[in-house]
Amino acid sequence: MIEIKNIDFSYYEREVFKNFSLKLEDGKFYTLLGKNGSGKSTLVKLLLGIVKVKSGEILVDGKNLTDNLYEVRKNIGMVFQNPDEQIVSERIDEELAFSMENYGYSSMEMRERIEEVLQEINLLEKRDLRISQLSGGEKQRLCIGSALMLKPKVLVLDEGTAMLDEKNRENIMELLKRLRDRGVTILLISHHLDELKYVDEVIYLKNGELWQGDRDKFLKEIITGSLGESLELPPNFYIAREIFRRKGIDISKNLFSSEEVAEHLWRLSLKK
Ligand code: ADP
Repeated sequence: MIEIKNIDFSYYEREVFKNFSLKLEDGKFYTLLGKNGSGKSTLVKLLLGIVKVKSGEILVDGKNLTDNLYEVRKNIGMVFQNPDEQIVSERIDEELAFSMENYGYSSMEMRERIEEVLQEINLLEKRDLRISQLSGGEKQRLCIGSALMLKPKVLVLDEGTAMLDEKNRENIMELLKRLRDRGVTILLISHHLDELKYVDEVIYLKNGELWQGDRDKFLKEIITGSLGESLELPPNFYIAREIFRRKGIDISKNLFSSEEVAEHLWRLSLKK
């Protein structure tokens, strides 16, 4: 479990967090939302110990992050937006092995782990291709694979699906769900609210304040309240909000099925 306790953090005079607290439980799928500049990347940098809190503390499994940086970094896998900026090798096996180098594993252990990870990210059949022959989605799966090599407890994706088309994004989301089912905590920074379909919990940074809670509660507050006012909503969300405003019907539980949203619209038009 990760506990951020009453932290203050500023870049010189720019204050990003003031008395900010947050808990991430093991084995849950979180999404981190917020407008540009709301502090999402800073939060990730704090978790990795790249920048340090001014006051307060960050505990990972009860241990202070700054005193256990090596151990903590091993336990947090990172994936960024652009796979081409992360990949350092030409071959798939080499790329995966790279993450394990310098940690003292034998080549036998490395080979076994590569095999397991290739299976997990569904690239076993493509392992002999050059990385340049992979699609964007496959390259991003490979980056997830590299992040998984050391069996981290937490996987952080900083806009990790932003450059992918819908099919590839779905593929990645299904992979993340499988990892969550295996007990890995997922923290996905995203602008795509339709990805909420896959997550358990929402962390929403809004003007230095935090909204954290269950996905369904978040959706309900967006559709029937004013929570989503500064977020860019997918079309279904706007329709659902209009249905609620005009007719008082809350369809936030059916948001991800276009058929059901259309059905509600149809019924409304019949009742006119
Ligand atoms: P997000 O990831 O949500 O877009 P960031 O964490 O990057 O937000 O930024 C939070 C705030 O901190 C913004 O106002 C940003 O301008 C500022 N900021 C980020 N990085 C730096 C930096 N290295 N130096 C000074 N200010 C920064």
